[in-house]
Amino acid sequence: MKPTRIKNISKITREPLSANEIDDLVPLPPPYDRVEDQPGWKQLTGEQREAYACDLDGVVALSLPKPKNAEEEKQVVDSFVSGLRKLLSKENNWTFLQPLTLTLDYCARCQTCAQSCPVYQESGGNEIYRPTYRSEIFRRLVKKYTKRGGALLAKLKREDIDLNWTTISRLYELSYRCTMCRRCAQACPMGLDNGLITHELRKLFSQELGWAPRELHEKGTVQQLTVGSSTGMKPAVVRDNISFMDEDLSEELGIKIETPWDVEGADVLLIHNAGEILAWPENPAAFAIILNAAGVKWTLSSEAPAYDGVNYGLFYDDFQLARIVTRHMEVAKKLGVKKVIMGECGHQHKAMMTIADRILTGNLNIPRESSLTFIEDIVASGRIALDPSRNDFPVTLHDPCNIVRNLGIVEPQRRILRKICPRFREMEPHGVNNYCCGGGGGAAIMSQHNFKDWRVSVSGRMKFRQILEAFSDSPGPEIKKYVCAPCSNCKGQIRDIFEYYGAQEKSGLTYGGLVELIVNAMPEIKTPYIKWDVT
Ligand code: SF4
Ligand code: SF4
Repeated sequence: MKPTRIKNISKITREPLSANEIDDLVPLPPPYDRVEDQPGWKQLTGEQREAYACDLDGVVALSLPKPKNAEEEKQVVDSFVSGLRKLLSKENNWTFLQPLTLTLDYCARCQTCAQSCPVYQESGGNEIYRPTYRSEIFRRLVKKYTKRGGALLAKLKREDIDLNWTTISRLYELSYRCTMCRRCAQACPMGLDNGLITHELRKLFSQELGWAPRELHEKGTVQQLTVGSSTGMKPAVVRDNISFMDEDLSEELGIKIETPWDVEGADVLLIHNAGEILAWPENPAAFAIILNAAGVKWTLSSEAPAYDGVNYGLFYDDFQLARIVTRHMEVAKKLGVKKVIMGECGHQHKAMMTIADRILTGNLNIPRESSLTFIEDIVASGRIALDPSRNDFPVTLHDPCNIVRNLGIVEPQRRILRKICPRFREMEPHGVNNYCCGGGGGAAIMSQHNFKDWRVSVSGRMKFRQILEAFSDSPGPEIKKYVCAPCSNCKGQIRDIFEYYGAQEKSGLTYGGLVELIVNAMPEIKTPYIKWDVT
């Protein structure tokens, strides 16, 4: 790995600024320790290299086309500077101005944050992934372009950075090499938030330049607003899928599963991440089984977009977040439900619970609760019979950053697992000190070109290591082991890590949500609910 300096960000080079080599990454434990056994990274074709900006680290997450001429490049630079000024103005950034300026003004350069960042650590210390690398470039550009005499001072202090296409396109890619897990913010002795710098950069790119990952914007927000769901499912398709699942599982499990739709005045409107319905239908089915067994008066909505709790605006543009969450709550208001419950989806929790608190006013501010606390109340109340001996296999728990570190919901899911999984063990560290799955900030659903290779082998490396260590007493495939990940995006990332390394075959690992374990422990279910060959 080539060492690099901050001012090199603007240097036009043929080679990437700091490419990743598999040999540089922190080694994994056996049987994943042999570099030659690892699948390797997809190579970019000559055509892709020509077409897209790929000179940051040789990874392409964003397919940003290069500018056609000098005029287009100038336009990009001008828009970027205008965006910087807006981020630093009260009128345009009232929501985040204060924490942003604190982070810009008070960094003691102690590097405590670097020790806590899984991307930087697992990359083997690649400078461009250091939390403060991104922030320092941003800080210098802010000073140069928004402060009086900033350009002259930058030269005098030898902190000048040329703002050209190369700087901006590299910063754009770099803003998607941080999973916004905010572990660095928790560790910072000054309370500064490098994850927020990532957020603000992404917001600038989206709002000023119209740049956002296709998976988050076109296929995410836009599709949700026009079709109803980031999965592309229209209301009729969602209802068909769920009723097919209800019928199928009722027959297999020997109990009647029925999902209520559009019940006016229900106590609870449950909103899933619709990805669950397509990829892991056993998760919404488990919710239905538990809520029905507990006698909850609940409903799903078939009105777009309230059958999909996804809100990718959280990751790149607050304005888009507000559009989605407002529509969610308009449907809840129309139904007249007493409460909205968020399914097992971390970013949905953060978007709908905390950020939405700043947006929802009047009668749109309907009470909202995490499914983890809601389901824990049911389990603790004894309303459903549970037999822990049915879960007699090793289980560990992944803490989704948005639910655990960012919202502080730490114990409810653990109290459930201690009650129903006799062989539950923690990962280390866990709770608010957890490590991200590596797919946070939208990364889990981004897979263009060779980005998936990066997120499973660099940003997801620490999580894979933690999982292997949690099960180090039975490392082989003979004993089946379950990683409980109560978040749709985290599950997608963990699935991709397991597939990449062949972890199901080599280590007997599978993954799933929390509610599936609860249903697996219900004596009235005739066949085991956990399927060990989940893909
Ligand atoms: S831990 Fe905080 S003060 Fe120290 S370098 Fe990181 S951001 Fe700056
Ligand atoms: S938010 Fe997470 S990934 Fe991003 S710099 Fe901080 S610790 Fe690293």
